[in-house]
Amino acid sequence: MKTLLDIKVNKKAAAKLRSGYPLLEKEAVQNLKALKEEGTILRILDDKKNYIGTGYYGLQNKGVGWVISREPEESIDDAFFARKIEAAVQRRKKLMEDPDTTAFRILNGEGDGLGGLTIDYYDGFYLIQWYSEGIYLFREDILKAMRKKLVYKGIYEKKRFDKKGQYIEDDDFVEGERGSFPLIIKENGVNFAVDLNDGAMTGVFLDQREVRKAIRERYSNGAKMLNMFSYTGAFSVCSALGGAAKTTSVDVANRSKPKTIQQFEANQLDPSLHEIVVEDVFQYFKYAARKERTFDLVVVDPPSFAKTKKRTFSVAKDYTKLLKETIDLTKNGGVIVASTNSSAVSVKTFKQFIKAACKEKGAGYDILEHYSLPDDFRTISAFPEGSYLKVFFVKITK
Ligand code: SAH
Repeated sequence: MKTLLDIKVNKKAAAKLRSGYPLLEKEAVQNLKALKEEGTILRILDDKKNYIGTGYYGLQNKGVGWVISREPEESIDDAFFARKIEAAVQRRKKLMEDPDTTAFRILNGEGDGLGGLTIDYYDGFYLIQWYSEGIYLFREDILKAMRKKLVYKGIYEKKRFDKKGQYIEDDDFVEGERGSFPLIIKENGVNFAVDLNDGAMTGVFLDQREVRKAIRERYSNGAKMLNMFSYTGAFSVCSALGGAAKTTSVDVANRSKPKTIQQFEANQLDPSLHEIVVEDVFQYFKYAARKERTFDLVVVDPPSFAKTKKRTFSVAKDYTKLLKETIDLTKNGGVIVASTNSSAVSVKTFKQFIKAACKEKGAGYDILEHYSLPDDFRTISAFPEGSYLKVFFVKITK
């Protein structure tokens, strides 16, 4: 049995939590010292000791825990998690039945009522991501619930709760049968090679599914395409499949090159017809300017924060500069796909970055399309911070 602890929150927080806000903020808790062991189940009470919700204590970058139930009598056990998983699966019925897409999210943290936890499906395998030690302490109950509600070959996990909230390197296999990697999954009929047991990431970011589809179907035919921060080249592959004349993928990580070759080959595309550059994007900008290279389609999808030997980059500080350099390489009438997964930058701020970069470069622009998270990355209106993905298709005129 897990211990149960009463915690009191201030008036303001009580109102916010009652309106559906799922995150327990540190400032809200009046008896903070009572919080000792992560994984403790919390009965959250207002200043008059009226029940607000049940949560757990778990430390993430933000907050000290999540509200996971609004029923005072509901116990937090394997049956509880089974109900959450069942509801999450029901919401994704259509995707589950789509033969052309075999990888997607089945449970998205607070969007599905379980802040701090996500579960993804990769063609017969499940990948659990734990965002705090607190939620990790419910591991046995959650695994029991998964065994009851899901059919699978095997389960893997990522523990994302070292001191900085980063991934803890480990053998990520949990149970069932081990996958043989690379595993080839499908997304709208496109193949991607993934590995569920090779570090923090799997090879494909599932939240960009709709963006990849748009790039393939509407923006690539005949285009010279540049993919900045290309990782395994998923956008390049989609552009090539959509008829791009040539793609150029740029990423500073050495591993990006063999991984990108693998993604091309998984789709019977000849990687030698494409360019894969292992370099800092800011160096590449200089090189491309010297060679007077320009592109019809440029995807810019940096990490929120990155540190290389030479510089640190943060979306909040440096995106406008990044876009300005991108505009230089974009042909008149070309399209920039500006993307960020930074929750520190709102849609409004991101639009301002685009406006400022174009203005400073004297370029005209037209926003053609705008994407946020796909439906399987379910978010709730009470927690807009959960909707972190922002992608704009911007047509540039010079
Ligand atoms: N756009 C990719 C995901 C990008 S992940 C996709 O859709 O799959 C971020 C990538 O940025 C990582 O692969 C990392 O190696 C790379 N990166 C970080 N800083 C960089 C820099 N200064 N120049 C080039 N690549 C960088």
